[in-house]
Amino acid sequence: MNYFSNQEMDEGERRDVAFQLVNALREVVSISKKLNQPISYEQTLDFVQDLNPEMYDSITVLLDRKNESDWVKYYKELADAQSTEDKTVNPVDLIEKDLNELDKIALNKDNKRFLKKRIRDYKNAIEYFQPRKISEHKILNRDMYLAERKDLKIQGKIYEKEEFVDYRLEKDNVLRLRLLHPDNAENILGADLIYEHIDTKSGYVRFLHMQYKTWNNKTLNFKAGSLSAQIEKMEQNLCKAGYCNNSEGKKTLKNYRMPFCCAFLRPTSKMQNSDSKMVSTGLHVPICEVKKIMETEKSLTKDNVKGKNVSYKIFDELFNARMIGSRWLTYEEHTNFYKERNLLDVDNIIRLHAQEILT
Ligand SMILES: [Zn+2]
Repeated sequence: MNYFSNQEMDEGERRDVAFQLVNALREVVSISKKLNQPISYEQTLDFVQDLNPEMYDSITVLLDRKNESDWVKYYKELADAQSTEDKTVNPVDLIEKDLNELDKIALNKDNKRFLKKRIRDYKNAIEYFQPRKISEHKILNRDMYLAERKDLKIQGKIYEKEEFVDYRLEKDNVLRLRLLHPDNAENILGADLIYEHIDTKSGYVRFLHMQYKTWNNKTLNFKAGSLSAQIEKMEQNLCKAGYCNNSEGKKTLKNYRMPFCCAFLRPTSKMQNSDSKMVSTGLHVPICEVKKIMETEKSLTKDNVKGKNVSYKIFDELFNARMIGSRWLTYEEHTNFYKERNLLDVDNIIRLHAQEILT
């Protein structure tokens, strides 16, 4: 059992965190593939399946359940009620029977708006029960042998349980993904993302950290849940610790570049309905800016982050252009950063730790 399948936890919260994780994964894959458009929701779920099949099963149940129409619920209950110990009734059979009857009546007749709508509803309900297909044409291919490549043996273990999956990117570069989650999750605060660029030629690393938070698309109360504590932690460990400074120890510099903030808050909308695509507001707010807002405001709003955040598209380009994220750190600085700050503790968090290894 994992956090997402743990019935003792609130289902809405689990669904929010599942959606945060899916969003994080979607960003990482889209940014590393250098696509102009983020990959689709279905393609992202294929990656969850690849990384952790058990988690995939529970996440898809959570995300799909939200999408159950009233007809799906109705036929599920009906099938349940008609099932006996010897015979299980399949809801799809029941829908198909009713659909056939309707089809016969409604065909070739005009002005049967509601009949036609019912037919569509039935067809959608049947669709709901079809098993999710995993694409054979993956957007990135897993590569088992990459881990053996000498130039990719960068350093010792990062986490206690060191499990990762490597995907081949363009120009022999590699995307190394780790999906970390606590074994006994009692109190999950959300999903976060660590995204690193490792340049094996120069021996330097740069990173950024993102904290995903579900919001209603309008406001995010700093008092809600653990948000202010999480922001505080990021500020202490990243901004105040000097990782938002350039190599001269300053936050601004002569050349044109975005400030060196490497910690971001990522307000993420709630899961939408089945037919809407996975829409996300795409706000990326630097923690340094969030802290300033916190000084005078109770919540983060669409209005008070105006001019202080970047959208997905801009973020993607800036990160790939090395204009957003931390400065370059040596491997040693990088390793010490995690050890000294206890940032590898994933007791309360579902984490995606991604490394783009540039060779
Ligand atoms: Zn910062």
